[in-house]
Amino acid sequence: MNYNVENLPIAIIGAGPIGLSAAVNLLDAGLTPIVFESGDCAGSNIAKWGHVRMFSPWSYNMDPKAVSLLKKKGWVEPVSTEFPTGSELLERYILPLASHEKIAPHLHLNTRVNNVSRQYHDILRNNGRESTPFVIRVSDVEGERDILVQAVIDASGTYQTPNWLGAHGIPAIGELTASQSISYGVPDILGASNKQYAGKSVLVIGGGHSAFNALQDLVKLSEQTDGMHILWGIRGSSVDNIVRSPKNDELQERRSLEVHIQTLLEEGKIEVFTDIAIEKINCENGKLIVNSHSYQLPPVDQIIAATGFRPDLQLLSELRTSIDPATQSPVQLGPLIDPNLHSCGSVPEHGSAELSHPEIGLYIAGIKSYGRAPTFLLRTGYKQIKSITSALASQEYKDFAVINSSLSRNDCALNQSCLE
Ligand SMILES: Cc1cc2nc3c(=O)[nH]c(=O)nc-3n(C[C@H](O)[C@H](O)[C@H](O)COP(=O)(O)OP(=O)(O)OC[C@H]3O[C@@H](n4cnc5c(N)ncnc54)[C@H](O)[C@@H]3O)c2cc1C
Repeated sequence: MNYNVENLPIAIIGAGPIGLSAAVNLLDAGLTPIVFESGDCAGSNIAKWGHVRMFSPWSYNMDPKAVSLLKKKGWVEPVSTEFPTGSELLERYILPLASHEKIAPHLHLNTRVNNVSRQYHDILRNNGRESTPFVIRVSDVEGERDILVQAVIDASGTYQTPNWLGAHGIPAIGELTASQSISYGVPDILGASNKQYAGKSVLVIGGGHSAFNALQDLVKLSEQTDGMHILWGIRGSSVDNIVRSPKNDELQERRSLEVHIQTLLEEGKIEVFTDIAIEKINCENGKLIVNSHSYQLPPVDQIIAATGFRPDLQLLSELRTSIDPATQSPVQLGPLIDPNLHSCGSVPEHGSAELSHPEIGLYIAGIKSYGRAPTFLLRTGYKQIKSITSALASQEYKDFAVINSSLSRNDCALNQSCLE
């Protein structure tokens, strides 16, 4: 006797804000999610940059469907116009949502997805492919196992795969050897990582808002401790465009940060190096020496690589994805988010059509869907999820998943034991 693929759950990879939004929306549409989170709590990537104040207000940062769900349980809604830090987003929104009685039973923490494929189909095999379940290979404390699902939403983010310092997109020569003194992302300079930077010479690399955040905190730290030297290396040839958001920017915190950095530069608190293209990093007498083109920057104790992030596409390598060769986003989304043309907030509306792949039933959502483009906003991600949910709940998709589906009773029993 055969069972319908349609009866299987929909896998969500990652319990960040977008993964949780997917769980809420799928449940609301009568579908069953199964959420895998590699960290020990939901939002574990955000926990790593909890000290950073977001530049979008609460009203942008929460999924309206999740808000309705939380409100039914006496949750206190944050003031919509205020700007949370990452930690506040976690404590006041993500964790309450993850522990909500409707969501928690579907959430598997400390469970990493290692691979996704189609049952008995490698990437080459066509026969009945579309109506065959996806296999999710997960690992947790008990080891590895496979779980069958009818569709996959990959919302695993990009924070765990930062870009290299090296100018060619690959590690600079010596970058891996120097890794003890390099931090990728936005370290908690005024908090947990204080000792790493106090009294030190620190080079920040990168021209975006993460670099601004690091520079702002380093200057604050230098006002509390002696002997600090703050250096800033950028790829561009000038720092003329620090204040790049319009005066009436709807993301006011973003503009305030830009204005603040401009002031710090005018006050001479940061030494700027332009036209930086890092080729080599040497460690000499406990200092790092960065070689860019044919010259060397002054020796430093620490480097902060605020050079952005890239998606880990290895996870999906056995599936038929269609990825834009430059942005590494789904191919149809590429031109809409091209950072040469768009900034946060100017990305056009998009949904399941732009996020689809030749592998029917697979979606990459959230910040991972933007590939290497740094322009993602949560507000856009929630719209993506709304559209993906409609597509997965549609009769067209249901018909598709049911036709020729051939799950055996054994397969279903296997899945049941995995989900318990
Ligand atoms: C410093 C910083 C500031 C930002 N500020 C703003 C802002 O002001 N406004 C805004 O709208 N956006 C902002 N963003 C961008 C974006 O909204 C956030 O990155 C947001 O966390 C993206 O949500 P997500 O759910 O797509 O991914 P994430 O929050 O990164 O969640 C992905 C989850 O997947 C898990 N995971 C990863 N790999 C696996 C795996 N193989 N198996 C299982 N689980 C896995 C991770 O542990 C994580 O919990 C900011 C980003 C950064 C880095």
